Amino acid sequence: MTWRGGSIRSRSSSRTVLACAGIFLLSTSAVCQSDPPALMRGCPPGNQQGVLAVPASRSLGSKQEQGDPGITAVGTVLQEIQSVSYPELEHVDLRVRFFRSQSDYFRTRFSLSRFLLPMRMRYHVDVNPALFQNQAPSDGVCAILAHELVHVVSLSRGNRIRRLGLIRLLSKGQTAKFERRADLETIHRGYGDGLKSYRTWVYVHIPLSKLQEKRRNYFSPEEIDAIEKKLLEQPHLFAYWSQHVPMNLRAIENGGN
Ligand SMILES: [Zn+2]
Repeated sequence: MTWRGGSIRSRSSSRTVLACAGIFLLSTSAVCQSDPPALMRGCPPGNQQGVLAVPASRSLGSKQEQGDPGITAVGTVLQEIQSVSYPELEHVDLRVRFFRSQSDYFRTRFSLSRFLLPMRMRYHVDVNPALFQNQAPSDGVCAILAHELVHVVSLSRGNRIRRLGLIRLLSKGQTAKFERRADLETIHRGYGDGLKSYRTWVYVHIPLSKLQEKRRNYFSPEEIDAIEKKLLEQPHLFAYWSQHVPMNLRAIENGGN
């Protein structure tokens, strides 16, 4: 799925699609309406009007998955988050696909063939459709999509050698540091409350055997609470934590000490 091309032709139709997207994400039986519903308020944070400004020139369809309501819903929300909170990704080729997993609901990938060849990079946010059956909270989905966009920012920055370094970092067992740093950036961009909501939900929608790994690799709701509180008191901690990622609640409560 690409954001280029044009299946969304007007701002009003964008609103309608987004209205339906929010409803779909909550798996309610409500009927889609043409006015932006309260469901989408707060996604992205600060979007209290539910008024959604999606650039008219962008598309949410792909040849393969065009028309799939899940892909369309996620893609529309992702696009809105990008335009409000990640303006640096405006020209990035970003697509949404489905994948299957017992323990993961989202992941970010880039095209290896494009990486190896002198071609424009393409990034994929992969979404597990089980998300919809398991009724993930809409503010949580909003926040975890914002987390995935942090990965896209990291991957799209710098040259290919740097990106290769990022891949090596992950393969060296640095996953927790990498993911917690992405969480930190997500919180800093205003998605902390949604991230708490997502973690609370995901802990009871993965196999018990995976719970410990999730709690180690990502901030828990208690840790996010503590980070938000600390950043409110000491905003400079964001820069420090970006370099020295806190790996537990005690490290967060200790701040930079
Ligand atoms: Zn991640």
